[in-house]
Amino acid sequence: MQVIKRLPIHLSNQIAAGEVVQRPASVVKELLENSIDAGSTEIVVSIKDGGRTLISISDNGTGMNEQDALVCFERYATSKLSSIDDLFQLRTMGFRGEALASIAAVSQVDLKTRIQGAATGIHVRFEGGNLISQEELICAKGTLMEVKNLFFNIPARRNFLKSDSIEFNHIEDAFLCVALAHPEVSLVLHNNNQPVYNLDASNFKRRISEILGKGGADKIFPISSDTDIVSIHGFLGKPETAKKTRGNQFFFANRRFFKNSYLNHAVQRAFENLIPDKTHPVYFIFFDIKPEKMDVNIHPTKTEIKFEEERSIYSLLLSTIRQSLGKYNLMPSLDFELETAFDLPSSFRQHPVQEPTILVDPSFNPFNSEKKSREKTFSPAIKKEGFGSGVPNTSDWKEFYQVTEEPVTSNPIPELNTHVATEFIGSGKYLLAKISSGLLLIDTKRALERILYDESIEAFVKHPLNSQMLLFPIEKSLEKHELRLIQPHTALLEQFGFKFEIQDTLLTISGAPEILHDEGILTCFEAFMNRLEMEDQQQQDLAHILLADMAKTSAKYYQIGNKSEMQQLVDQLFRCSDHHLSPSHEKIISIVRNEDLTQFLK
Ligand code: ADP
Ligand code: MG
Repeated sequence: MQVIKRLPIHLSNQIAAGEVVQRPASVVKELLENSIDAGSTEIVVSIKDGGRTLISISDNGTGMNEQDALVCFERYATSKLSSIDDLFQLRTMGFRGEALASIAAVSQVDLKTRIQGAATGIHVRFEGGNLISQEELICAKGTLMEVKNLFFNIPARRNFLKSDSIEFNHIEDAFLCVALAHPEVSLVLHNNNQPVYNLDASNFKRRISEILGKGGADKIFPISSDTDIVSIHGFLGKPETAKKTRGNQFFFANRRFFKNSYLNHAVQRAFENLIPDKTHPVYFIFFDIKPEKMDVNIHPTKTEIKFEEERSIYSLLLSTIRQSLGKYNLMPSLDFELETAFDLPSSFRQHPVQEPTILVDPSFNPFNSEKKSREKTFSPAIKKEGFGSGVPNTSDWKEFYQVTEEPVTSNPIPELNTHVATEFIGSGKYLLAKISSGLLLIDTKRALERILYDESIEAFVKHPLNSQMLLFPIEKSLEKHELRLIQPHTALLEQFGFKFEIQDTLLTISGAPEILHDEGILTCFEAFMNRLEMEDQQQQDLAHILLADMAKTSAKYYQIGNKSEMQQLVDQLFRCSDHHLSPSHEKIISIVRNEDLTQFLK
């Protein structure tokens, strides 16, 4: 009996499609590349519901004749590759002839297209890879592809898609990769009928500036170098534009977007000491290189590229960027104050340095503890009182009420029951007190964080937090994706006491929560956006995160001076829901036990 069977063609296409079409953004990438390859100068992309309902791309390129309009949906149908030598000489985008077959296998596609000189065009419709209809059509020269109900026939895949805004962010990335590489093409992107980008045909610099938003042109500087191996040109963000998240980092090789962590390291290194730790420079760098000198992984969804002479390219890139940083005066002068701070007075220099006889572990930090991961330390007040009026989607909060109340832990430090009598001394970061079992340490900032968090959450559950109007409103220009991230949460932010408006891409904050110190307002707002950027958060988690961030930012600006303030802090701390952990799960209190203390003096 025969056991091995050939897969029916529609099934094998579906499986192959899984590789090419991972999410709506993959469709956008493939269709855009096809439009570019067809020599289009104007392309319009319209998206509905994160691409799950509709991805429509129209272009004014060559179009297809009747026969091609049908054949293009077959696997390995391509007009771009006819010999194996071509594979190494490729300068077009697509070449495997797989994209359209894959897309058609997992969606409902309408293709309307007409070539130059033909009186009429053709409209073909495919569903799940099957031809449904075919008719003549009067239409403009070029191609319109409408991909509807992606993954309609693979529910598991459809359910796997993320929220519309996250899917749209991926689409935007794909769109930008093409837009940056082809500034000579005019490109429009609509999302749910709202314009997101409307980019006129221009040059690299103007396109990049336009994408960066208001004042974009002042934020970048050019690089350029030409050698036998490779020619490099592009624009980088000035050091002050470096960001905590890795947005806006683009490498292109022969106008194809790629990722390469080795070359990314070269850029990062060029900016060494110019940008704060853990921030990432913005860059748009274009390499022109002979196609046979690089290996484009021909897997359609992979974006890695390997170069034959990667090491040389690394050093070339590094030196090109450093040169430009120097040329445009973006290098700081040496920080002499910092250097001299370590100079010893001359009288000390004559003394031989004595090795200390007491060895203390310098890395010892009594507050280091494994952070309790993702464990919720919400105030029970939220459970008791519910949220104040005016909060959107009450049902969203329901789940939140179900957070189990933290058991009230019995106080493990008996002496603290009489803490009022305990004398605390301040030592900057910590408050110290001698207790019978040892030395008690309280991390001042973390204690403050806990107190501020509990206070504001008590208030928040009853009514919106008090807001104070700012004498000088704070302005910040937002990027498009930041705008989209923030929009669904405006009601929540208002509930917290932020008063702001957004015009175009300009955010103006005119009021802020009373508990926030002026200087922390923007930091806190930005921290919130970073959180939104990182994951799809539930509203209730966001409330906790925002409050915790606010408490952390405010705590920085408090100064604990005299004894009565210390005492007050300690009293307030012990009235909190949890005086052991800060809202961001860091240890507030620690005891160095007598036995351990004696170790230090041995
Ligand atoms: P590939 O791009 O790898 O050739 P695709 O499946 O993406 O494979 O496309 C198949 C063929 O359909 C292309 O080679 C091209 O001839 C034709 N095609 C696709 N999109 C367009 C378009 N927008 N305009 C003109 N021709 C197109
Ligand atoms: Mg293609």
